[in-house]
Amino acid sequence: MLVVGSIALDTIITPKEKHADLLGGSASYAALSASFFTPVNLVGVVGTDFPKKYLELFQKHRIDITGLKTEQGETFRWTGQYEINMNNRTTLSVALNVFEKFSPELPSSYRATPYVLLANIHPALQLHVLDQIQSPRFVVADTMDLWINIASEDLKKVLKRVDMLILNDSEAKEFMKEDNLIKAGHKLMEMGPKYVAIKKGEHGCLLFGPEGRFFSAPAYPLKQVNDPTGAGDTFAGALLGYVASTQDASFENLRRGVVNGSVMASYNVEEFSLRRLKELQPSDIKSRFEEFKQYSHFA
Ligand code: AMP
Repeated sequence: MLVVGSIALDTIITPKEKHADLLGGSASYAALSASFFTPVNLVGVVGTDFPKKYLELFQKHRIDITGLKTEQGETFRWTGQYEINMNNRTTLSVALNVFEKFSPELPSSYRATPYVLLANIHPALQLHVLDQIQSPRFVVADTMDLWINIASEDLKKVLKRVDMLILNDSEAKEFMKEDNLIKAGHKLMEMGPKYVAIKKGEHGCLLFGPEGRFFSAPAYPLKQVNDPTGAGDTFAGALLGYVASTQDASFENLRRGVVNGSVMASYNVEEFSLRRLKELQPSDIKSRFEEFKQYSHFA
C-alpha cells in the first residue's frame, strides 16, 4: 500500500499537558496504522533536523522509506491546542519549511502499488501522485477543511479519480453546502467516488456505497482521550491497510475496514503522537475488534 502525505514535528497542547517535537503529520499516522495490516511504501519530505529515531521507527514497522526525501532545511512544524472538551482545536502555528516546495515523486518501485492512500495534503499534490501511479486497484483520498476552503476545484478533480473519499462530518456539510449529513454523503458520491466515509469523531463513522448501501459504525467507548491528533489519518490508514491485506474492496469488507479503522483510531487517541500505536500488538487489535462486534450486534 502506498501512503503519501505530510510528515511533521508537532507541538500539541491540551488542557493538561504540552509536548513538543512529536512525530506527526498525516502520512506518519496513516503509514504506522496501515503497517499493522500490510507493508507500506511511504512518500513524504523531511528536513535535516528530522530525528533518526523516527526513521528507525518507520523501518521497524516494515514501512519502506525509499520515497521519503530529506531536504536541506527544517521539517514541517505544526502546533495545535485543544480546548477543554478535547474536540475543538486551534492551530497556533504552522511552519511549512521543506514542505512548502514538496512535490511527491514516486520512486519507480512504487508506481505499481495496488492500494493508494492520498493522506491529507493539498489536492493538487494528490493529483500529481495519481498521474504517476499505474492502474491502482483502490484509491482512497483524505482531506480537510483548509482544502475545501482554498482549493475546492482541485479537490473536485481528485473526487473524479478516487474510489473512496474520507472526511469528517463538518467538512462534508461545508463542502456540499448541506446541513443533512446523509444528503451530503449522497451528494459527495455523485461527484465521483463510489464510497464515502464520513467520520463523526466520538460518535463513530458512516459509510456510503453504491445502490443505497449504508453502514454505521460506533466509536469505541473510551473514558479518556489524551490526544486526538491524527485520529482521522490513523482511521484511513487502517481501513485501507485492512482492504489491502485481504485484497477485497467489496462493501461487506469495507465495513470491516471501517471497524478496523475505528479500533486503531481509538488506540491512537489514548496517548500523544504515535506513542500508543508503536507499542500496539496484533492481539490488542483483535480484542478491540471483537468488542466492537459485541457492542454493535443485535438480532
Ligand atoms: P488530524 O488530527 O487528523 O487533523 O491530523 C493532524 C496532523 O496533520 C498533525 O500531525 C499535523 O502535523 C498535520 N497537519 C496539520 N496541518 C496540515 C496541513 N495543512 N497539511 C498537511 N498536514 C497537516
